[in-house]
Amino acid sequence: MDKILVTSPSMTSYEEYIDEIKSIWDTKWLTNMGPKHNQLEFELRTYLGVEKISLFTNGHSALELGLQAMNLKGEVITTPFTFASTTHAIVRNGLTPVFCDINANDYTIDVDQIENLITDRTCAIVPVHVYGTVCDIERIDKLAIKYGLKVIYDAAHTFGVKYKGRSVVSYGDASMLSFHATKVYNTIEGGALCYNNDEYGNKLRKLRDFGIKTAEIIDGIGANAKMSEFHAAMGLCNLRHVDEEIAKRKEIVNLYRSELSGIDGVQLLPIQDNVKSNYAYFPVVFNERILGFTRNEVFEHLRLREVYARKYFYPIANSFDCYLGKYDPCTTPVALHVSKRVLTLPLYASLSLENAMRVVDGIKEML
Ligand SMILES: *Cc1c(COP(=O)(O)O)cnc(C)c1O
Repeated sequence: MDKILVTSPSMTSYEEYIDEIKSIWDTKWLTNMGPKHNQLEFELRTYLGVEKISLFTNGHSALELGLQAMNLKGEVITTPFTFASTTHAIVRNGLTPVFCDINANDYTIDVDQIENLITDRTCAIVPVHVYGTVCDIERIDKLAIKYGLKVIYDAAHTFGVKYKGRSVVSYGDASMLSFHATKVYNTIEGGALCYNNDEYGNKLRKLRDFGIKTAEIIDGIGANAKMSEFHAAMGLCNLRHVDEEIAKRKEIVNLYRSELSGIDGVQLLPIQDNVKSNYAYFPVVFNERILGFTRNEVFEHLRLREVYARKYFYPIANSFDCYLGKYDPCTTPVALHVSKRVLTLPLYASLSLENAMRVVDGIKEML
C-alpha cells in the first residue's frame, strides 16, 4: 500500500517547465522584476479579475509588507484559527493582535464579536478565508467603514474563489494570496497582494525591494521579497492547468462529502451560497462525545493505514509557545474547541478516487 500524504504539489510536466525557462538563458535576467515576473503579474491579474496585484517571494512577506505599507499603529483584530503566518505578520510589525473567536459553523471570524473588540487603539482587521471558505465580507466591509479601519485579508486559501461572481481577493483594502507548494496554485514558493490603490502599490513595490526609491534615494525600511524568474516561470506553467486541477479536487471533495455526510458527530464544512469554491481543503470535526472516540484516535488509526491527515489548525495561534503568557486561548473557546477536534483529509489533484476511498474506509472503520 502506498502512503497517502495530506497534500502533494500540483506540478506541470518537466518538459513544459524546461521549455518555459529556456529564454532565461538568453536574457540572463534571473530576478528583480524580469519578463517572466511581469508576464505572470499580468496573467494573474486577468485570471483573478483584480485591478492591481504585486508578486512576492511568498505569501507571508506579502502580508507582512502589506501591513507595513499601511503605516498602522495599535491593535489589529484577527483570528487565532489560522497558520502561524497571520499572527506573526501582525506582531513582526510591532502591532498588537486582538483575537476574535471564530463561528462554529464555518470557522471564519465571528463577525458578531468584532464590534465588542474594537477600541480607540484598533487600526485594522485581518480576517482569514480559512480552508477557502469566504468570510462574511459584506459585514466586515460595513464595520471597517463605520470605524475607519483597514481590512487586509489572509486569502492564502482562496486562489480563484469567487463570491457573487466577483473575485474574493478584490475585497477589502488588500488581500494576500500564497503560492506555496502546498496550495491550490503554486509557484514553488510565492505569494501576492491584491489591492486597488496606486499609492499603496508604489509603497509595496518599494518595500519589497529594500525601500529603494531610486539608485541614490532609499526612503523606506524595506525587505527583500522579489519573486525570481524561475518561480514566475513555474507559475506561468501551473496557471495553464489550474482549472483542471481544481476540477479534479472537486471530484474528490464530492466523494468525501457523499461518503461522510449525515454521520452524527462528524461535522463537514457547509456549502456556501453564492460562492465558486476552489476545493482547497476538506476539514472534518470529530465530536468525541457523540462518537466515543477522539480526533487523535482517528489520526492514529489512519496513520497505521499509511494515511496521513493533518491537525490543521492545531495548536491555535494564541496558544503558541512563542506567545506564552501573552494571550489566553480561553478567550476564543470555539477556536480552541475546533482545533482539538479537526482533521484535514488528504486532498490534492492527483489523489485517485480509489485512494480517497481508503481514507473514507479508514474513518468508517472507527464508527
Ligand atoms: C500558507 C499560508 C500562509 C503563508 O503563505 P506562504 O506563501 O507559505 O508564506 C499564510 N496564511 C495562511 C492561512 C496559509 O495557509
